[in-house]
Amino acid sequence: MRRTLFESLTTGALTEPAPAPDRAALAELAKSVDRAARAKLGRSLSIREVDAGSCNGCELEIHALSNAFYDLERFGLRFVASPRHADVLLVTGPVTRNMREALLRTYNATPDPKWVVAVGACAVDGGLFAGSYAVAGGVKDVIPVDLHIRGCPPSPTELLKGLLALLESTSQGNRGRR
Ligand code: SF4
Repeated sequence: MRRTLFESLTTGALTEPAPAPDRAALAELAKSVDRAARAKLGRSLSIREVDAGSCNGCELEIHALSNAFYDLERFGLRFVASPRHADVLLVTGPVTRNMREALLRTYNATPDPKWVVAVGACAVDGGLFAGSYAVAGGVKDVIPVDLHIRGCPPSPTELLKGLLALLESTSQGNRGRR
């Protein structure tokens, strides 16, 4: 016991430091998303996050967008509490049978024009949880999806790149499912 205590006090951190985000690139990406949203909608983008059954890994990355470190609300990106105020639904996780109805109602409550972004490998086709008795499938099995952002989980930078790609493709009038 004493030895373990001594080792824990004298051994430094064994984990690798997290990679530092490229702040300038992130800021440029966020500005581009805001510009594209203003061109398309005439205002900033409002996002409603829907956890349809994820492990919360994807939520941690999505929440990072508005934490004190990334602080992307300064560029106009807003997370809203109600789907009635949202332009984009960011949906994570496999869709569990328990969340299927809630996801459908959230989709129906979101006014047009609206876009659905499925975030993470699980949102594509159920990922790790595909085939479980509790899983109804990927997001596209329940509601129409405009964009998939893959990764387990995707980083904040990948999330921003996805949102930008979505806005740029829709502003060119070719709103397609991918
Ligand atoms: S994609 Fe990965 S992080 Fe996201 S919900 Fe699935 S297992 Fe969790």
